[in-house]
Amino acid sequence: MFDVIRIPAFKDNYIWLLRQDMRAAVIDPGDASPVLEVLRREKLELSSILITHHHQDHQGGIDGLLACFPSAKVFAPARESVTGTSAPLRGGERIRLAGLDGELRVIAVPGHTLGHLAYYGEGCLFCGDTLFAGGCGRLFEGTPREMAESLVCLAALPDETKVYCAHEYTEANLRFALAVEPGNRALRRRADEVAVLRAKDLPTVPSTLAVEKATNPFLRCREPEVIAAARARGVTENDPVAVFAALREWKNEF
Ligand code: ZN
Ligand code: FE
Repeated sequence: MFDVIRIPAFKDNYIWLLRQDMRAAVIDPGDASPVLEVLRREKLELSSILITHHHQDHQGGIDGLLACFPSAKVFAPARESVTGTSAPLRGGERIRLAGLDGELRVIAVPGHTLGHLAYYGEGCLFCGDTLFAGGCGRLFEGTPREMAESLVCLAALPDETKVYCAHEYTEANLRFALAVEPGNRALRRRADEVAVLRAKDLPTVPSTLAVEKATNPFLRCREPEVIAAARARGVTENDPVAVFAALREWKNEF
């Protein structure tokens, strides 16, 4: 079983490094240098690079990593343009990473981008910019229906699943969540805990799916308080996709 190491990058990105013995895999290396630093310090050999989607802050470091580890395999969405892709994926595959035990399930989660993938295995979910702690990604390419269905699909994983998203956006996400559901006690508690962590500059990721299902409004589009908030913003049906779309638009201008 692998360990997961957090590598902060840019302003608020997280690059996740999976390590077992002396082998490593890395997810969404937007920048090579902080990853190379960890690999050198820990004397690890990089065997695999996994990409969730094509945005530069998720794939910008591939070239630099391949320059040092030319045999690393690059797993990436088949329908997106990603540097050095050697294993194009569409979702539904099960992949093994050289040197790491266990397999990862590849899940297609269109919405933020059309080819966006999530990787799930060993109780860990690496979901890029689809599901965030307390929120979800913007709809740059997909429709609200696609994103809503992608989130439903992730929410169906076990409650104890650890959610490793690609950005530290939790505090702002929970401010929005509280505007949607001011009466959600679990959400209030979480917002307080997150404020304490962030004041000390500590990370709030990973969270768990149980926490997300209790507090993330984008996973709660069937809850009466969330539906009521969407209705107050002009939604006329209880359709969870319409509720989701209204929340996502509201968040864009929040
Ligand atoms: Zn992105
Ligand atoms: Fe991103």
